Amino acid sequence: MTTFDNLLAAVTVTDGQPVHDPATGELVGNTKMSSTDDVDAAVAIASQAQKSWGALSHAERADYLHKAADAVNASAEALAQILAREVGKPLNGPNARFEAGACEAWLRANADFPLEDEVLVDDESGKSVLSYVPIGVVGAIGPWNWPMMISVWQLAPSLRMGNAVILKPSEHTPLSVQALVAVLNQALPEGVLQVVPGEGDIGQAVSEHPDIDKIMFTGSTKTGQAIMRSAAADMKRVTLELGGNDAGIVLEDINVADMAQDIFWGAFINTGQTCAALKRLYVPASIYDELVQALAKIAAETPMGQGVSEENVLGPLQNAAQQKIVADLVEEARKDGATIVTGGNPDDHQTGYFYPATIVSDIDQKNPLVQIEQFGPALPIIKYDDLDQAIEWANELEVGLGSSVWSSDADRAREVANRLIAGTTWINKHGAVDPRVPFGGVKKSGMGLEFGVEGLKQVALPKVTTL
Ligand code: NAD
Repeated sequence: MTTFDNLLAAVTVTDGQPVHDPATGELVGNTKMSSTDDVDAAVAIASQAQKSWGALSHAERADYLHKAADAVNASAEALAQILAREVGKPLNGPNARFEAGACEAWLRANADFPLEDEVLVDDESGKSVLSYVPIGVVGAIGPWNWPMMISVWQLAPSLRMGNAVILKPSEHTPLSVQALVAVLNQALPEGVLQVVPGEGDIGQAVSEHPDIDKIMFTGSTKTGQAIMRSAAADMKRVTLELGGNDAGIVLEDINVADMAQDIFWGAFINTGQTCAALKRLYVPASIYDELVQALAKIAAETPMGQGVSEENVLGPLQNAAQQKIVADLVEEARKDGATIVTGGNPDDHQTGYFYPATIVSDIDQKNPLVQIEQFGPALPIIKYDDLDQAIEWANELEVGLGSSVWSSDADRAREVANRLIAGTTWINKHGAVDPRVPFGGVKKSGMGLEFGVEGLKQVALPKVTTL
């Protein structure tokens, strides 16, 4: 077992860049910042290490992944404590401890997915077999909201399929990812997993590197577009998990008291800083006031505060820029005549990048808080009279990551779900990802799939053998 102090000491350097707790402003530690020479050196090591790693059998690599999952399990509390300080997310609720647990779960699931060769033709004309072989070195570039979990989403299938991995964490959360890598490397062979902390220029160096063969990227649509351009020169494979602005459509048959909690957490998971969180809610006029009031009550009563305090389940925004995006969007909504039912007034005297859980009603579809991804704790609730209109509103944005339908009638919910344009539509839940179930965005929310056997195939090269 690794303690929090040991783990933090292992990833902190004396002359590095300071990283602060977004809740208190206190120093968490100093991170190494990589140069492009460091990227070159890491790629050279990875290319060498990949040769023997890629030559192992699936069963042998699965065994390593399970041992890496054991290491995460043994250090789960230390990892969660680092997340609570660096990301600011509370230890409890669907936050830091949950994230450390998800890392273990995704490692084990990716170790165990069966991936057999597919016999496509086997008759008098011959035999054709489709198999999946390693790509080589995968560059994995990530965001700050779920830094460990998203790194595992990228590295676990990549390693399982025989690739070496170089992670480029967000500049906002470098210590979390270095801590995770330190733990995983207690179990993995040397050189197959490395981390190059740095800013966007280091991400660019990774996505342009001629000896990196595949990019797995999770982050904003704008950066995803830049990566696609960088990747074009060498025809690198890319998987892009990008921004979303997920709609939830409530049907008039729901029992508000039964469903309000789940709707709330669909939107406010990780204090709203989640790609596939519910970011705009469409509610029929007949139950509009009742649901708005129920959500406002939960928002006002849910404890928000410092990540390391056991009682909190909502935390600060991770950084000043994100806090300003949320505050500006709510302010604009207020000026346009929307009602701020609860929240909306950050306490200027409080340290840290806090923004209260905010419910906004009487807001229309064209408002920027509806049109733009807020990525924070402010939910716009739009009233509708006509379900067809609500579906049109849900579908009209340029993004399509997740969506949800809320109803007591499963058949009706499925009918509406079939009309929503998104990578995933949940019924009576939102954002519930599962390592066995493929996940990815459509439109400007991304390209490719993660998770499950489909996810394994996307970090491998399809290879057909015909005799
Ligand atoms: P971001 O695009 O600003 O940064 C993501 C990463 O890209 C960082 O590591 C950054 O250093 C790096 N980067 C910046 N410029 C680069 C370049 N030119 N080339 C290569 N790398 C570069 O995103 P963010 O602010 O960290 O994350 C928030 C966004 O991520 C939101 O839009 C959110 O919806 C999205 N997101 C999507 C998913 C998903 O699974 N679809 C998951 C989490 C977050």
